[in-house]
Amino acid sequence: MLFRFSLLCSLGLLVCTCGRAPENEAVAPSVRPNILFIMADDHAQRAISAYSDELTQTPNLDRIANEGMLFRNSFVTNSICAPSRAAILTGKYSHLNGKIDNLSAFRPDQWTFPEALQAAGYRTSLIGKHHLKTLPRGFDEFRGLVGQGDYYNPTFVHNGDTLAPETGYTTTLITDYALEELQRSASGGQPFMMLYWHKAPHRNWMPDTSDLAGLLDKRYPEPANLRDEYQGRAAAAHADMRIANMFVSQDLKVLEQYEPNDPGTGGATFWPGGTRIMAEYFYREIERLTPAQRAAWEPFLARVGQEWQDVKGTSDELGWRYQRYLQDYLGSVKSVDDNVGRVLDYLDAAGLAENTIVIYTSDQGFYLGEHGWYDKRFMYEESHRTPLMIRYPAAVKAGTENDDLVLNIDLGSTLLDYAGLTPPAEVQGVSLRPLLAGSTPADWREDIYYRYYQEMASFHRVARHEGVRDERYKLIQFTEPGFEGYELFDLLEDPSEMNNRIDDPELEAVKTRLLQRLADLKEELNVPD
Ligand code: CA
Repeated sequence: MLFRFSLLCSLGLLVCTCGRAPENEAVAPSVRPNILFIMADDHAQRAISAYSDELTQTPNLDRIANEGMLFRNSFVTNSICAPSRAAILTGKYSHLNGKIDNLSAFRPDQWTFPEALQAAGYRTSLIGKHHLKTLPRGFDEFRGLVGQGDYYNPTFVHNGDTLAPETGYTTTLITDYALEELQRSASGGQPFMMLYWHKAPHRNWMPDTSDLAGLLDKRYPEPANLRDEYQGRAAAAHADMRIANMFVSQDLKVLEQYEPNDPGTGGATFWPGGTRIMAEYFYREIERLTPAQRAAWEPFLARVGQEWQDVKGTSDELGWRYQRYLQDYLGSVKSVDDNVGRVLDYLDAAGLAENTIVIYTSDQGFYLGEHGWYDKRFMYEESHRTPLMIRYPAAVKAGTENDDLVLNIDLGSTLLDYAGLTPPAEVQGVSLRPLLAGSTPADWREDIYYRYYQEMASFHRVARHEGVRDERYKLIQFTEPGFEGYELFDLLEDPSEMNNRIDDPELEAVKTRLLQRLADLKEELNVPD
């Protein structure tokens, strides 16, 4: 297995470019494809109706799956924002690209797939959220948010120059700039590759003013484990990411006049005074809205404040918090869906749809109340998974699905493959091109490695861990001092990962096998410790 996997890693691109023509690739594109790589931030699979229509409708995002392929088993290698972006750009796991957590620096001198495409003659651009602190290399046009960015009236950096704050809603502004750049690219005579990367629906989930009406009347089904008590899962019990402890100000949007002493920890238990600092940050965000934006928000905020005062301390509080969270999260998704629709319409109108690869993904998944949580980080399914839909009419059959284990580090290799390029040997991702053509190689990976590194003494207090997942089982090893130990889940019988069966004799053979696979994968992937 080890040999076969290594061989696949090193020869994967040859396998799919030199093998027989895949079934669905009847019409080979005569020119190199354009690439539109759309990424949202913290967008859970369950918040896209192509995956599940239980919570919301996303007709524009669904178009990408309906007209292309939806990946059911798409995962990240390290479920946190900046490290995931680094993994995507470099095609390598965190231990090799160096960006192991949100606190460490990204090494800007290393190979990335956009720079390789630029060197090969593509016009390249990055519009939206970058979040790697250094100015990115390899882009002809870069218009990025400063840091995490704001939902309203954001400040952009344009090719190194920090601009004055702009007026408007960030998801829409990013899209306006993406459309401008697409028009420039389309008239330039080169193939183009755009990273169109949204801030939304990252915390603190502020929907557009046009989406506030009716939002507070929406109701969503609670997940069965909203009131999880974390039996047999010590690290989960210790984490500070429960909806029950969200910031009442910043997250739930209760102004100071309705709640002067926010009782939430919001993931900031390590940070003395953090709750107050974040509350003041939220009040300032409201202060800096334009008069028109403020007028739209005021009745919304007044009703939220009143509802909080009515529900605070009652048995209905957690249920109310959950609804408030999902209202804002899904309200923020609504604008992403609308704006992606604008871009897809443009590709149609400009005659670019046929020869443009459109990817939709997120930097990771997110908890929408499962285990009582918001946020990500853990190797549990909701944040280990990430959405992935790819449309490329010239080579991908519409309305298809794939169940193979795929990773965010595979995307760069996939795009290079379609552009006729080969990534350097150190790249660990494998091209998805054969999967997109409808034929999975016999030796495709059967399990995946995961690792979360961030210090315990930082946001959300999540113990360090690593693990391995195959089609049915998941083994997690917690390495944080005080939390050392293992968890083992049968995802077929227990998809919500409530029952840690590490000591169950019935799964002894599975445990032994996965412990060995974890060791083997670490060796194959050059994990140093
Ligand atoms: Ca993220």
